[in-house]
Amino acid sequence: MSHFSVLVISETQLTEEAMRPILQPWHEYECTGVDDEYVIDVDITDKVTASFNEEQEVVVLADGTVIDRYSDSLYQYMGQKDSLGMEKKEFVLPEGAIEKTMTGDEARGHGIGYKTMKICAKVEYGGFECRGRFYRKTNPNAKWDWWTVGGRWTGMLIPNYDPEKDPANKETCSLCNGTGTRTDMVCQNGCNGCGGTGIKVKWPTQWAKVGDILQVKDIPFTTLRDLSEAKAVKWWDDCHAIIAGRYILSWDNVRETCVDIKDAREIFQNDPVKKDLEAAKLIGFWDATNELENLRLSRAAYVTRSRNNAVSTFAVVKGGVWYERGSMGWWGCVSDEKDVDSWGREYAALIDGLSPDTWVAVVDCHI
Ligand SMILES: [Zn+2]
Repeated sequence: MSHFSVLVISETQLTEEAMRPILQPWHEYECTGVDDEYVIDVDITDKVTASFNEEQEVVVLADGTVIDRYSDSLYQYMGQKDSLGMEKKEFVLPEGAIEKTMTGDEARGHGIGYKTMKICAKVEYGGFECRGRFYRKTNPNAKWDWWTVGGRWTGMLIPNYDPEKDPANKETCSLCNGTGTRTDMVCQNGCNGCGGTGIKVKWPTQWAKVGDILQVKDIPFTTLRDLSEAKAVKWWDDCHAIIAGRYILSWDNVRETCVDIKDAREIFQNDPVKKDLEAAKLIGFWDATNELENLRLSRAAYVTRSRNNAVSTFAVVKGGVWYERGSMGWWGCVSDEKDVDSWGREYAALIDGLSPDTWVAVVDCHI
């Protein structure tokens, strides 16, 4: 489950209302529950049959009674708690009982497993029966289960706008009532809701909508690209001042030369260049792999990449088609997910080719 950004492009005026039918072809029926023209019945008879006939693990008690191996009555609290302080229950085989594996039908004879295929289809797959076969409703093209205009990407088309710094997106912290100190629990660095400031950033769904639906003529693409370049240049120069001509590791290369992934991790974590950049807070822990790859590029190549990616989203919806990085054949070319530059290049070309009156909208999607 994750959030990703989508750029909706339209020749006609975009509003949240107008975007509903545009994005509807990619809704996830299992979540939206909207049974429309995009939802089809998929035959799941084979899956249901396999689940229905699955072998069952059982316990035969001393008196011959057969019960499910996972029945609550076989689990007891033995004095151990898990990391969350919950009582850990352990399997205890009663005296004289034995563990056994039974066929689906044999277990069913003892009341274990699904009574009927119909129940199995419903519980296991949310499916239904029709003339002896089983089906599940689904939209095979599903891409999202929820979306909102802007959201986490709000203000993406506005130079220097940071939604987390917009006063409109801040509110008094409810955990400490704006005092910065919680009275109900002990926190090390002031209230954990607001970092001790008393003011916290609102949830992205409550953020002010700022420039999320615009016409191409109103989007300062050159400024956005210049800003992206300036930031890129500063970062690249700061990093290379620290690297000072030393070799920059590539995770892929390290991984290829090590048989054991543990050795590869060890080499990568202890690399002096990486450590120096981390100490200078120029690269992050989670993003280090990508950031080091960026630093392996020439300054000019990195600047080009940054300009191309100044305005970029994970996917684009245009003319009733969903394009995304990693999908084959978008705009007629073959790409793979790793090819950051071809996506950025084609994306920039697409945007530059739009007429000034074209409408675009930034959408925060979730799946
Ligand atoms: Zn607080």
